[in-house]
Amino acid sequence: MESLKRKIQHSIIKMKSLLKDKKFHSQHVVKRMEELDVANPVIPEKALFNFSIDFEIVWGNGETNGKEISSEQRIQNALVQARAFGPFMDMLDEIGFPITWATLGRLANPDRIPPQESAFNPDWSIDWYDSHYKNLENQIWDGTSYLDRIKEAKVDHEVQSHGYAHIDYSDSSTSEKVAAWDIETSLMELRSYGFEVNGFVYPCNRPRYENLLPKNGVEIIRGIDQSWITQGELKKTPLGFWISPAIYGLDDMIKIIDHAVERKSFIHPWMHLIECDLNEDDIENFYRPIFEYILKLQRDGLVENISFKRINELLK
Ligand SMILES: [Zn+2]
Repeated sequence: MESLKRKIQHSIIKMKSLLKDKKFHSQHVVKRMEELDVANPVIPEKALFNFSIDFEIVWGNGETNGKEISSEQRIQNALVQARAFGPFMDMLDEIGFPITWATLGRLANPDRIPPQESAFNPDWSIDWYDSHYKNLENQIWDGTSYLDRIKEAKVDHEVQSHGYAHIDYSDSSTSEKVAAWDIETSLMELRSYGFEVNGFVYPCNRPRYENLLPKNGVEIIRGIDQSWITQGELKKTPLGFWISPAIYGLDDMIKIIDHAVERKSFIHPWMHLIECDLNEDDIENFYRPIFEYILKLQRDGLVENISFKRINELLK
């Protein structure tokens, strides 16, 4: 049963849509259905599904209103991720559902600091590579136990690179040297940790220096609009959409998925574990039933739960 807080959140969104657009579905659902009108070019006879988690713990710095995220906020975000990770993995193990982890290289090794000319140093940040978090409890900054768990999971999860230090590749201060160090270091650390990585997700979906990716063995990325790039040395999937149980109800998601099945399109929700609130029982009320629904559709031959790696192979 959906929690009271979630019910209220969804009712407010639906009420606003009714008043503003005279529509009974929320504007988010209407938008998603429009985006999912295009059939996927990979397996045209069915819909495709990929669920990704952008995984950062305390290293997920970024800019809001011209300032970097506060230390307190980063610690709070990391604690929520740390708390949700175990139960989320348990659920995926239980139902046998592989997903994609867009992971910072800093989770495999938190100690790499670039030489000055390769360091990300925008005017809105004090010290991007600030290591003082390592004086705090391990679970918020040391990614290795999470990566071990992903490696040992009962299902075969995919790991992609999300860069090394969550830099903003689109920022005007990011030179090619800065981008190159971040891409190379991230891939090197994740691969040395034992993951086969050939996909990349730009932090905050802000791309630049895409030419560096194929040189580093990256063959596929999450794109920044809803189109497919199926030719050339770097393939791109549609951007997909940010999923949060604060915005969508389970019924909304079923509607979106059913629409995608009809159009045989690519459903690509992505999130951070920050959005998964154990107090609202989001795993049982939202994520598990979505994945179980995908598994049922997969058994019926209507959907395939697919990795980026597999998409890339099929496009070759
Ligand atoms: Zn991110």
